[in-house]
Amino acid sequence: MQNVTDKVVLITGASSGIGEATARRLAGEGAIVLLGARRTDRLEKIVREIRAAGGAAEYRSLDVTDAGSVGDFVEFGRQKFGRVDVLFNNAGVMPLSPLNALKMDEWNRIIDVNIKGVLHGIAAALPVMEAQGAGHIINTASTGAHAVGPSCAVYCASKYAVRAITEGLRQEMAKIRVTLISPGVTETELGHDITDQMAKDFVNDLRSISLSPDAIASAVLYVVAQPAEVDVSEMIVRPASSVGHAF
Ligand code: NDP
Repeated sequence: MQNVTDKVVLITGASSGIGEATARRLAGEGAIVLLGARRTDRLEKIVREIRAAGGAAEYRSLDVTDAGSVGDFVEFGRQKFGRVDVLFNNAGVMPLSPLNALKMDEWNRIIDVNIKGVLHGIAAALPVMEAQGAGHIINTASTGAHAVGPSCAVYCASKYAVRAITEGLRQEMAKIRVTLISPGVTETELGHDITDQMAKDFVNDLRSISLSPDAIASAVLYVVAQPAEVDVSEMIVRPASSVGHAF
């Protein structure tokens, strides 16, 4: 595919859900994909399957909460493939709970993965892309970056932060494309670690209308495939039947 073939695309949170679907989809269109996450057994299997289907893929162990790990991930991609065309900052967690449950460890995990993880990605990729004179940073936000609901305050705050960081980056960068993708409810493993029963029920209700992660992978493919002078700066992708609530 034009503007996708042979592009080097680094994907965080590629061991399941949206990241996995995007890796498979972009590799299927000729991109060279580098998958990162903590569950390397999963990454190894996905990479094996991508290669068996004729695609080009590698994987690396990655913890986005550790700036050094993210730096090593980007440097591995640069050295192995000679450049980094796209960084898809996608890793995220969603242990929802009402604020008065005081689950401070979970709040901190959300902040560390969803906000600091994105900043670590930007810090690692920007110098490489600035030296190249080109690049594309795509950050996964959420419909929760545009609205807040009960049990979602800290998660939504993290995604509002990703949205603000992404828009700031876009305004600062002339040669580097910057995109915010905001998925609505999507059928993935997200939220498997919710410990609060009310929040679990809330998410289970929403899940009855969830999108396939392939729908988000198609959105990523669309923004990557645009000509170099076109920056799709924001995209919200919701289930068509998402009526009566903001997500
Ligand atoms: P999944 O739980 O399926 O995927 C999350 C990914 O993030 C996994 O690959 C996980 O890999 C990775 N991850 C989590 N913590 C870390 C870490 N510390 N370091 C590196 N990787 C990490 O959920 P989704 O695919 O749904 O989530 C992808 C993104 O989409 C997230 O940012 C999420 O907030 C966003 N989103 C999802 C929606 C949905 O309804 N599913 C809606 C809106 C936004 P591992 O555990 O192996 O490290």
